[in-house]
Amino acid sequence: MEQAPPVGYIPTPTAAYRQHRKTAQLLDQPGTPRAGAPGAADTPVPLPYAFGARVLMWKQDPSVDEIGTRKAFLPGLILDGPRDARIASGAGIDPVAPNAFGDFVAQPDTPQFDAVHTFAVVRQTLTMYQRALSAAGAEMPLPWQWNSSVDTAPLQVFPYGLPNVMNAFYSRAQGCLKFGDFIPTGQKERVYTCRSFDIVSHETGHAVLDGLKPNWLLADNPPQTGGLHESFGDLTAIFLALAQLDQCEAVIAQTKARLHDKTFLADIAEQFGLSLGTTTGLRNADNNLTLSDAGNEVHALSQVFTGAIYDILADLFAFERNPALEDDAAVLHRVGAYLRGLVLRSLIAAPDRAATYADVVVQMHALVARDAKPPDYASFIRDRFSAREVVEVVVTAPAPAPQDVPNVALAPAVVDAPGTVQDRRACCGTMNLPEYYNIEAILAQEVNALAQWCAQHGRTGPAG
Ligand SMILES: [Zn+2]
Repeated sequence: MEQAPPVGYIPTPTAAYRQHRKTAQLLDQPGTPRAGAPGAADTPVPLPYAFGARVLMWKQDPSVDEIGTRKAFLPGLILDGPRDARIASGAGIDPVAPNAFGDFVAQPDTPQFDAVHTFAVVRQTLTMYQRALSAAGAEMPLPWQWNSSVDTAPLQVFPYGLPNVMNAFYSRAQGCLKFGDFIPTGQKERVYTCRSFDIVSHETGHAVLDGLKPNWLLADNPPQTGGLHESFGDLTAIFLALAQLDQCEAVIAQTKARLHDKTFLADIAEQFGLSLGTTTGLRNADNNLTLSDAGNEVHALSQVFTGAIYDILADLFAFERNPALEDDAAVLHRVGAYLRGLVLRSLIAAPDRAATYADVVVQMHALVARDAKPPDYASFIRDRFSAREVVEVVVTAPAPAPQDVPNVALAPAVVDAPGTVQDRRACCGTMNLPEYYNIEAILAQEVNALAQWCAQHGRTGPAG
């Protein structure tokens, strides 16, 4: 005679029953989503479940065909244009409407594709930096320079904003990004700067930084302040690539996890560079330039800062790498996320006017300690920026035992001589816009000289 099972007995399902359940799970419809605990009364989930649109975009630009296009999901509400609360597609291309799925998918080599790609890169850039601050507990919406409680106007984006111009820019006065297109000398195909992931993210970087540090873009700052702006643009392109998991995988595969090997990550603006006759993009982040090499030329100066950050990226990646425990691409993605937050927070903490590289490096050095990172992080920062002649390491006191944290301070090494004027000739279009030069002062100078000449020559007013 069979015994009755004890109270609380749970039968062990047989193998056949388990198989039946697995099959049933595969075939059953998922059913209506429910809020609340299992068994509780059904509470309908409020509509819509989530906003967000898929977009089709270039991974780098049309010339890097090894990696081509990708689908990306942009969380958040995106309307015809595309546009959202912070970014709007400007005139020049008919507004793109989402398809039946709410997605913005267009054929490459069409104006619609270009509008979607450009919007998507700007959106991803803004989201990336908003996340970087949130991750560090410093959440803020990152306003555009003109935003206030009474002006919340979005940044306008014009993918075809500069026909037959070999350039692109961020204009504060016009509240926009404009991208040029041109046919390179001796070639037939038109190059669209808006199709470049790097150029669009670079210009968006200028817009983001201008919202935080409005003084830095003005040309009467010392050269290094201009260098920080230009470098932040290039670093934005690198950080945005590192924010995409598939791009991290591509970098690892291409370099076999040696970041100092030539990779598209360090080569900024491939197609643009190719059309100008260089194979390493407009400038190369993996360089050895020092401050005394660069002088007051802002574009060269920017590469000193960009290069040091790239070296630190490679150092942090090598330090954190542990293939036995974690995938290399995941490590690169994680290290990139930390470093972009570190750079952004250090820029925010630097002085509002005439900031130098050393100002920013001192903040980075302090922040890694405050973030309780291993002491190696601080020593990578010291070593790389000393090699670039940005800082000098000053031993303030012998390290107290048993603490092994080096008791050091950072002092500026090579600095701009007082009154040194920025040479922005080789910079991107943003840095060369007249609006960032004190034009009125230059005009006033000429007008004053004219008035003085008139006074000296007896032209003292209307006759009579
Ligand atoms: Zn620039």
